Amino acid sequence: MSVSKNEKLRRKDLKPGEVLCDYCTAKCCRYFALPIDEPATPRDFDFLRWFLLHEHASVFTEDETWYLLVHTTCKHLQPDNRCGIYQRRPEVCREYTTDNCEYHDDWTYERYFETPEQVEEYAEAIFPKVDGWSIRSPQPPLLPVLG
Ligand code: SF4
Ligand code: SF4
Repeated sequence: MSVSKNEKLRRKDLKPGEVLCDYCTAKCCRYFALPIDEPATPRDFDFLRWFLLHEHASVFTEDETWYLLVHTTCKHLQPDNRCGIYQRRPEVCREYTTDNCEYHDDWTYERYFETPEQVEEYAEAIFPKVDGWSIRSPQPPLLPVLG
């Protein structure tokens, strides 16, 4: 079977001896994700806001586990999408297999937060309102007008 340049080879169409990674842009080398405690309080959500105030950070859930996701490319990924330290790559990379990697993933999750504002809206939706409570920081006082 031939695959045009614009068509992505499907995992099941690999020929014997072919490696799926040769058809991939090294998706698994362009982020890392760590499980985090499920946020349960407004303060926990305020921590999530803090994560997302940083560039390239997002938070997602999968099977009800919460993850901090950082979109950042490994320093050893080469321009041809190969590993520059293949013989010395970390154990986590060695143990990773193409069997159910994210080759076909379209990055959709149960929950996905990219901005602090999304976390604010979510927290405000799930916590009962109490007088004056808001996850949002209070507006700072206006600066004095210099005469
Ligand atoms: S393991 Fe999967 S996601 Fe990573 S480079 Fe290979 S095909 Fe791509
Ligand atoms: S060490 Fe190699 S395999 Fe591991 S993330 Fe970096 S480029 Fe990818």
